[in-house]
Amino acid sequence: MTAQNTMPPFSQIDIAPTAALILGLELPKLDGRPIESAMAWGCKNVAIIIIDSLGYDLLMWLLPTLENMRALSIEGQLLCATAVSNHTTVAIASILCGLLPEHHGILDKAGAKESRIKSLPEIAAASGQSCAVIMEQNGADVYQGLIEIVRGIPDSIPPQDFDKEACRMTCQALLERPRLLVSYFIGIDKSVHLGRGREGIREAALLIDRCIGEIVRTADDETLFILCGDHPIHAGPLKRTREPYCVAMILAKGRNLTGFR
Ligand SMILES: [Zn+2]
Repeated sequence: MTAQNTMPPFSQIDIAPTAALILGLELPKLDGRPIESAMAWGCKNVAIIIIDSLGYDLLMWLLPTLENMRALSIEGQLLCATAVSNHTTVAIASILCGLLPEHHGILDKAGAKESRIKSLPEIAAASGQSCAVIMEQNGADVYQGLIEIVRGIPDSIPPQDFDKEACRMTCQALLERPRLLVSYFIGIDKSVHLGRGREGIREAALLIDRCIGEIVRTADDETLFILCGDHPIHAGPLKRTREPYCVAMILAKGRNLTGFR
């Protein structure tokens, strides 16, 4: 297991360049750089799983109870990655474009729709690669007509139903063997905003962890998994109030995993 406790040398903006290198794509302009260590695993496909509010410290606290994410961290790499923003849409845009917020300029979902900056799924699809995006409805709408598999989930449904649906749709999409998949889980963040406290957060994380196990078992053995938070907890008593603001980032190759439940 690798972890950095000081200012992290890694950032969320490294995800897109890492995925692009695996997929053999050239992104026009980038602020991030590829995480070279992931190249040695010989992956051909990429699955990016964004877990809302998965701060690095939060994952450290949760990890003893999260069997699947712990297995991924041990078999792969667990990194502390700089969070570029405290806002979900801004951070997800950086994750998927490899650009800092001041360079992509996307502040909200309307901005994401109107933006002329192409994100990784669009670039992959334009190169003829099969892509899947499973996200909350508005985020998914950005990709309608641009990529092969788009599944939107209304964020008005209970968070545990949202995450179960995201899990089901992700597994279903993986059966089509996309080169690139992006999926999104909401339960931890919703628990924070609903004031459900530590146990509510843990419960949401356990559900997501079970989903991760199912997803990894469904993916083929040449898939690089990149799990990451969009920002540290940004509300409630567990709110991160001092630097470094980092999210958890786990890189792992599915094939190496043993003991998955
Ligand atoms: Zn968020």
